Amino acid sequence: MLNIEHIGIAVKSIEKSIPLFETLLNTSCYKKEMVASENVQTAFFQQGETKIELLESTVEGGVISKFIEKKGEGMHHIALAVEDIHAEMERLKEAGFEFLNAEPKAGADNKLICFLHPKCTNGVLVELCMERD
Ligand code: ZN
Repeated sequence: MLNIEHIGIAVKSIEKSIPLFETLLNTSCYKKEMVASENVQTAFFQQGETKIELLESTVEGGVISKFIEKKGEGMHHIALAVEDIHAEMERLKEAGFEFLNAEPKAGADNKLICFLHPKCTNGVLVELCMERD
């Protein structure tokens, strides 16, 4: 069984969205982090055992700005926590799933991450993430 580690939400302005989500969730943003490899600024909120990750593009034409252009702000991805990301990628590849990246890469929050292709997951962008030591 894979736990939902976090839910990613694409926003136009993280500065405007942080106070909104702080009020909504009745908690403080505990971390902001720039992820250079993804061209995103992120902000995290702990909500029970799950986190909410806000994502704002830091470049024009980046994945998050393209997403917002196409679909507007909103839910971007669901991240599942895995113990062994390489083994889990193998398992899912053998089951016929496709990945957007061939190898896990460094993500926010000290994680190794990879994304499944939404065309094989009912249109939902699914991230696998593993804590790095
Ligand atoms: Zn994520």
